[in-house]
Amino acid sequence: MTEVINPATGAVLTDVPASDLARTDAAIERAHRAFADWRGVAPADRARLLRRFAAVVDAHVDELADLEVRNSGHTIGNARWEAGNVRDVLDYYAGAPERLAGRQIPVAGGVDVTFHEPLGVVGIIVPWNFPMPIAGWGFGPALAAGNTVVLKPAELTPLTAIRLGELALEAGLPEDVFTVLPGKGGVVGQRFVTHPAVRKVCFTGSTGVGKSIMAGCAEQVKRVTLELGGKSANIVFADADLDRAAASAPASVFDNAGQDCCARSRLLVQDSVYDRFLALLEPAVKAFRVEDPSRPTAEMGPLISAGQRSSVASYVTGADVAFTGDAPDGDGWWYPPTVLLAHSTGDRHWREEVFGPVLSVLPFRDEEEALRLANDTEYGLSGSIWTRDVGRALRVARGVESGNLSVNSHSSVRYSTPFGGMKQSGLGRELGPDALQSFTDVKNVFISTD
Ligand code: NAP
Ligand code: MG
Repeated sequence: MTEVINPATGAVLTDVPASDLARTDAAIERAHRAFADWRGVAPADRARLLRRFAAVVDAHVDELADLEVRNSGHTIGNARWEAGNVRDVLDYYAGAPERLAGRQIPVAGGVDVTFHEPLGVVGIIVPWNFPMPIAGWGFGPALAAGNTVVLKPAELTPLTAIRLGELALEAGLPEDVFTVLPGKGGVVGQRFVTHPAVRKVCFTGSTGVGKSIMAGCAEQVKRVTLELGGKSANIVFADADLDRAAASAPASVFDNAGQDCCARSRLLVQDSVYDRFLALLEPAVKAFRVEDPSRPTAEMGPLISAGQRSSVASYVTGADVAFTGDAPDGDGWWYPPTVLLAHSTGDRHWREEVFGPVLSVLPFRDEEEALRLANDTEYGLSGSIWTRDVGRALRVARGVESGNLSVNSHSSVRYSTPFGGMKQSGLGRELGPDALQSFTDVKNVFISTD
């Protein structure tokens, strides 16, 4: 049994049984047997089932959101968006089974056609920071492409995933096509890596565990998608709309209490407007509402755990604090939004992923230096560029070594566009029109006409 705790109060919510090895193996084997039938379901029928799953999720958005507020401390506004995102991803990929067309390639002596064959059982390992969306980005396209899915939620945040598993059955998905297996990473997640019937692992989480999963998957040449950490830069040029850039900077890093792999946790400001920008930023940070996440006005809730809070605090101790926002006192794992001045790119809070509401600031001289500082990291997930110069926006967007850039905004994720990291932020892309390719293998068939 694993205790599930409300991070806003520290109170125990419930106990969830942890799957052991035998239960994990049995579920994988059932998923493997279910694959034979699921891949054979007519494309239009598979599409219909996914649309029905989306409709059932839609009918439970409020229930799922309430559960996420209590289990993860997400603000109610975010949690509703997250449940809606699962619905939207299912709707989007419901269009896929009937469109997963191969090619006919001209060859001599016959006809050559390609097929996008499903892989088999796909294992999805989900972290605690976005339990619903990250699950859906895996199981939506995986199921659409004809795979069956076993999914391990994070130990800290299993409740919405367990509910989504029940809703799939309610929507009419056959038994064992989508199975949620709460349990330990080292037991359930590790078994996805070693069990030969699992043909692909989708992992989101820390870079260290991601590397060990990639190494483990090499043993069976198992397909792998990795979404790992980030240390994304928010680059503000002197010619930008500074009011808008300053007003939006807090949410770009403090949303979800900074527990976001896309958090713009490194702020680079052109030196000629550095003082002015910090003067605009301070009131925006102080006004950021950190409160009971079930209140509709909340912009930020608590951190996920006591351990995460002490880890975040360790980055602030001894650092140069520019200013902080507010956070409630009392029970729960609260931490105030905090802005730190970096003195060099060697500062620990500038280099490492803090995964908390901590923003590090550094000035830059010109475009060349901005790019050099932004790229001085092993990570490459997201980033933002603020300027009114279209040419510079495009030059810098092409120059930053990250998978997801936004100009004069902080958007990272849309279900219809690709998402993923360069460098050590990940491998492969989720979402968008191409995600299906990573849940299928291309098969080539030549038919002789002689
Ligand atoms: P983590 O250990 O990488 O956990 C992510 C998921 O992997 C969880 O479901 C975890 O299960 C599972 N797991 C852990 N060890 C495993 C193993 N050996 N084999 C297979 N699966 C395994 O991340 P964390 O410890 O929760 O967080 C640590 C740091 O990682 C954070 O502070 C943050 O910097 C980073 N992180 C990044 C993201 C992201 O979105 N890129 C998400 C979360 C965390 P358990 O629940 O049992 O641990
Ligand atoms: Mg861990």
